Amino acid sequence: MSDDEKYSPERLQSRLEDIRSRIEVASGGRDGDRPVQLVAVSKTHPVEAIETLYDAGLRRFGESYVQEWEEKQKVLPDDIEWHFVGRLQSNKAKFVADRVALVHSVDRRSVLKALHRRSEDPMRVLLQVNLGMQKSKGGVPSDEIEALMDLAASYEKLNVCGLMGMPPYSDDPEDNRRHFKVLRQTLKRLQRYVEAHHPAYREGLEELSMGMSNDFEVAIEEGATIVRVGTALFGQRDYDE
Ligand SMILES: *Cc1c(COP(=O)(O)O)cnc(C)c1O
Repeated sequence: MSDDEKYSPERLQSRLEDIRSRIEVASGGRDGDRPVQLVAVSKTHPVEAIETLYDAGLRRFGESYVQEWEEKQKVLPDDIEWHFVGRLQSNKAKFVADRVALVHSVDRRSVLKALHRRSEDPMRVLLQVNLGMQKSKGGVPSDEIEALMDLAASYEKLNVCGLMGMPPYSDDPEDNRRHFKVLRQTLKRLQRYVEAHHPAYREGLEELSMGMSNDFEVAIEEGATIVRVGTALFGQRDYDE
């Protein structure tokens, strides 16, 4: 299939509508909450596809590779709200500091420190938890999150506003429910910890970034406030991490 067909406006728009209505249905049971935020994960997909979704009203896009993001960001509208969702090396922190709305994937002290040093303004970040203790994926074990938070709280240029997690890959989204529950419980525990140990902390720690193309509905049922959707919106990636 050519890129023109793969990323045709009709295709992208109808997928966007479909995802929006599925998000709506999955959030239906919750009362009085903020709407779930959709981050369109556009890594490896062309700027034309992003423009189509931008024209359809989407403003929140996620990228994983610093260099790819920089090239796209240069040619795309300024009012896009960029989310950095990929693994971040501390030597790349300077490129995203102050320039993205949210870094989802902070899981190391060196990255916290680098983002703090490189930011002019307080910058929003999520701490990434390793769900299911996967060796290959990023994230700190749930029981080390308080220690990472202690360090983050000492950096006034960083606002930790919640947690991100990725369950191990499974074909059956129901397999991931228990991992999403763990992430939500970890956030609750961290909120209590921050109230007790950093009572003046400036952020409420309310965000739960969890759920991707194959499991975002289950994630929403388990309390996701942000879902990161790539494939279900853009189609298969031609190459991947
Ligand atoms: C690529 C990626 C996504 C999107 O995954 P899909 O399965 O294509 O929806 C979400 N989150 C992170 C961190 C990613 O790297």
